[in-house]
Amino acid sequence: MLHILFPKECLICSKIGLWLCKKCQKKLVQTLPTCYICKSLSNKYCTHNGCLDKNSLNKITTIWKYNEYGKSLIHSYKYKHRFQVGDFLFSLIEDKLKTFDMKDSVLIPLPSHKMKILERGFSPTESMCELISEKYKIPVEKEIIFKKQNNTNQASLNYTEREKNVLNIFETEKDRVKNLAKYKQAIIVDDIITTGSTLNEINKVLKECVPEDFNVNALCIFQGIFRKNESQKSLQSDR
Ligand SMILES: [Zn+2]
Ligand SMILES: [Zn+2]
Repeated sequence: MLHILFPKECLICSKIGLWLCKKCQKKLVQTLPTCYICKSLSNKYCTHNGCLDKNSLNKITTIWKYNEYGKSLIHSYKYKHRFQVGDFLFSLIEDKLKTFDMKDSVLIPLPSHKMKILERGFSPTESMCELISEKYKIPVEKEIIFKKQNNTNQASLNYTEREKNVLNIFETEKDRVKNLAKYKQAIIVDDIITTGSTLNEINKVLKECVPEDFNVNALCIFQGIFRKNESQKSLQSDR
């Protein structure tokens, strides 16, 4: 009934029918497979051996570049039309996920602080994990990693500040993390990656409890553009 009174319309151009009309969907630009550390091309988004340091992830796969079109989708999903836009967003990425190696994996939603979850009424990364899990029959581990502090929004900070802002803000359920070793790899799911500081920090705390050869990867829907020593407030997502 509601959708008859308020029909879906394109978040960008207001065309009736879809949250992002076919024409505007074409403005979502696919990312090239790159290493998230040095940003140059790399096979299947793997981090180059020479770029890996002790906290970096083996790979961070992304789908689209974060632009105004992506921003409209993410903001609407997080703050306005949680279920409908969530399902729509998933329908857009569903096919692309088929090529992603998720065999014997476990999904871990990037944690939000409990105050943020209360404010929004849900965790966007958890909901996205549930959609992926249902479709591809991959387990999700939710109560495994927590954000201790409701830290400053990363979007307002520069590169160095971002690293400091996430330092030691996560804690884990150690016994549950140890249990992850029964899977081949853990895939942390997030909506947008910019510098990767948050993911590195999560990787650091997970690695304290799993065997050294256990793989921690990430899947992020959008890839933000971020130059060192610069804050790009306007286009970043809030967390
Ligand atoms: Zn449109
Ligand atoms: Zn590299």
